[in-house]
Amino acid sequence: MTQRLPAFPTIDERHLDRRLYPHGVAFVDGQYLPMSEAKISVLDWGFLHSDATYDTVHVWNGRFFRLDSHLDRFLTGVERLRMKLPYGRDKISSILKDCVALSGHRSAYVEMICTRGSSPTFSRDPRQAENRFLAFAVPFGSVANKEQLERGLHIAISETVRIPPKSVDPAIKNYHWLDLVSGLFDAYDMGAETALILNTNGHIAEGPGFNVFLVKDGCLRTPAFGVLSGITRRTVFDLCAELGLSATAADITRTELKEADEVFITSTAGGIMPVTRIDHTAIAQGRVGAITRRLMELYWQKHEDPVWSTAVLYPS
Ligand code: PLP
Repeated sequence: MTQRLPAFPTIDERHLDRRLYPHGVAFVDGQYLPMSEAKISVLDWGFLHSDATYDTVHVWNGRFFRLDSHLDRFLTGVERLRMKLPYGRDKISSILKDCVALSGHRSAYVEMICTRGSSPTFSRDPRQAENRFLAFAVPFGSVANKEQLERGLHIAISETVRIPPKSVDPAIKNYHWLDLVSGLFDAYDMGAETALILNTNGHIAEGPGFNVFLVKDGCLRTPAFGVLSGITRRTVFDLCAELGLSATAADITRTELKEADEVFITSTAGGIMPVTRIDHTAIAQGRVGAITRRLMELYWQKHEDPVWSTAVLYPS
């Protein structure tokens, strides 16, 4: 069952007063709201059971980057979780655009979420739940800060194993993050800034909100198994094709990662971000590698290209 909604609101004067939205704008239960007022019931299964899927797309200099790919991944996840959205693809796209336009942010982190919702009779049967769609646009955030982007991140490899794909399909973007958060605490204990955790075969999987790539002898590799197919990861494959670089998805061992010529991570929250230290090993003598730099440059250039990006129409 889908959620019953009030009539779709018009963008009235209140919504156009951007001073009401210093931290961003959310769309909850059919209404645009300042982030501070964006709330859902504690009985929502999204909160109680992590029964939800979501996607995050970013806006850079007033343009969405690869919005269609993010919508595709989100809609596929919703379908595979047997949820029903109250809106079609075009409406969702315009809700996301409205959240950004109303917030006034030129660079934003934009999330679309579908939760199982809850059942009016408090039934334990997920088929009785009224699914909930929500979205928000907040200022752009990155895994790596400016200094880390310039000198490269320090990462620790945690012994924590990512939830097996046979338990939770990582292709459906989800909030099952206890493993990733546990990895982060391990990394902090080891004096690092963020973490990579392992897949069920003991090889490198991914980190809290990012995929990882290594460069060895001019060729790129990223883990194939037990990871989210990141849109930024896919973008790296596309950029490599354009630059004539070889990129494959295959296992990466801990040793291979530490012996790589270059390492970088990828996420909508920050793009392509260099890594210059793994545990106590310096990568590329602790300097950002040439291939990583070239990919970072091209990645941000593509944000201006209408083939890869869509303009937000801000109220004048
Ligand atoms: N892996 C996980 C677990 C994530 O949560 C994310 C993004 O949030 C990524 C990888 C990177 O995916 P994308 O490049 O689509 O942002």
